[in-house]
Amino acid sequence: MKVAIYPGSFDPITSGHLNIIRRAAMIFDKLIVCVMVNSAKAPMFTRDERVELIKRVVIDLPNVEVDSSGELLADYARRRGSCVIVKGLRAGSDFENEFQMALINHKINPNLDTMFLTAEHQYMYLSSSTVKELGKYDVDLSDFLPKAIIPDFKQRIEAVRQGGNKK
Ligand code: ADP
Repeated sequence: MKVAIYPGSFDPITSGHLNIIRRAAMIFDKLIVCVMVNSAKAPMFTRDERVELIKRVVIDLPNVEVDSSGELLADYARRRGSCVIVKGLRAGSDFENEFQMALINHKINPNLDTMFLTAEHQYMYLSSSTVKELGKYDVDLSDFLPKAIIPDFKQRIEAVRQGGNKK
């Protein structure tokens, strides 16, 4: 069984992430979407909240599992019996960083390879941080976020605005 891992911050999951998940789920027998803890980023949603939001939008994809981990990705993949990491590539700006991470992961775990799926053109410019910026204004978010999570997102933006961020 070919198991792949799609790691990221997913703070929150965007329509661009969901597009990569749907496409990867058609290629592999099983796809594990893993919320990775990144100490360099101060998240808007807790790790458990991010997992719950992802679970809600992949409910129709039976071969997709959602997990979270604070482990090194190469170790996590080994433990989960996966030899493929899936990454989405947007503009050239993603490339340098992703290329470096792919080489390091392969060095640490030589059984592990990284496969890149190119972003769909309509999501090329989309990132969680862009959505968080847009969320501060009165903008229709339905082209950027899965519909099922928009109310949660707006609520959190409002809570942050009022200084009541309950991370
Ligand atoms: P972000 O940069 O949005 O904070 P994450 O760390 O959550 O992203 O990203 C996880 C993975 O998803 C990365 O491989 C990233 O390149 C990819 N990704 C993020 N946004 C998109 C998008 N709009 N289209 C395709 N891939 C994306």
